Amino acid sequence: MKVLVAVKRVVDHNVKVRAKADGSDVDLNNVKMAINPFCEIAVEEAVRLREAGVATEVIAVSVGEKTCQEQIRTALALGADRGIQVETETGVEPLVVAKLLKGVVDKEQPQLVILGKQSIDGDNSQTGPMLGALANMAQGTFASEVVVDGDKVNVTREVDGGLQIVSLNLPAIVTSDLRLNEPRYASLPNIMKAKKKQLDVYSPADLGVEVTSHLTQVKAEPPAERQAGIIVADVDELVDKLKNEAKVIS
Ligand code: AMP
Repeated sequence: MKVLVAVKRVVDHNVKVRAKADGSDVDLNNVKMAINPFCEIAVEEAVRLREAGVATEVIAVSVGEKTCQEQIRTALALGADRGIQVETETGVEPLVVAKLLKGVVDKEQPQLVILGKQSIDGDNSQTGPMLGALANMAQGTFASEVVVDGDKVNVTREVDGGLQIVSLNLPAIVTSDLRLNEPRYASLPNIMKAKKKQLDVYSPADLGVEVTSHLTQVKAEPPAERQAGIIVADVDELVDKLKNEAKVIS
């Protein structure tokens, strides 16, 4: 069983994101980039399936500029077998990414496609469901457990107020939630080995996709500054402030 994993290059989750002075976008100058954390979880799940003898090959795919090859190499160091970059400008919208991933799905015919539930830069949560629709595949989103059982995959989904288990016919799409697994660290020997693994580059035209944009980012601005808190001496002072300053109790 072939597993395709989509990995996105995003700002490292430890970086405090700043908007550009003109508010046109996020400032990515000299900012540390990394693999999207939910994609790391997706890679880990695929590699575990291969280690368990369920999957035979794990392919990591990323859509973006040449720099996203760094994140494909990270996925290869974590255990993916080979990589695919679909070369585009940075910041293509989820619908375009989904169409390009559909092109890769048509070429590779994987039985399972694992994506992150969300990218931490755009917070879109759109690509997996859009790919499911375009490829006409069943999908299990927000997965906290994935069990392949013959020609089906059972996905435990984290939904509001509990868990839902769905059984999907393969080929299927899964999007990973935080509790699906705890990704391993790449060892130095594996980082070295990853440099030699196969990495193919396709253009959108190779996949028969025309890159068009349907949305424009109007503005990027930081959240309003939060006011500093204060420490009160005792409960009486707290009650007094809630009553007379904040006026939230009477
Ligand atoms: P989003 O819909 O942007 O929140 O992204 C959800 C998931 O779709 C990510 O965690 C990735 O698995 C996948 N994805 C989104 N954008 C890309 C991209 N440029 N390249 C590869 N995978 C992507």
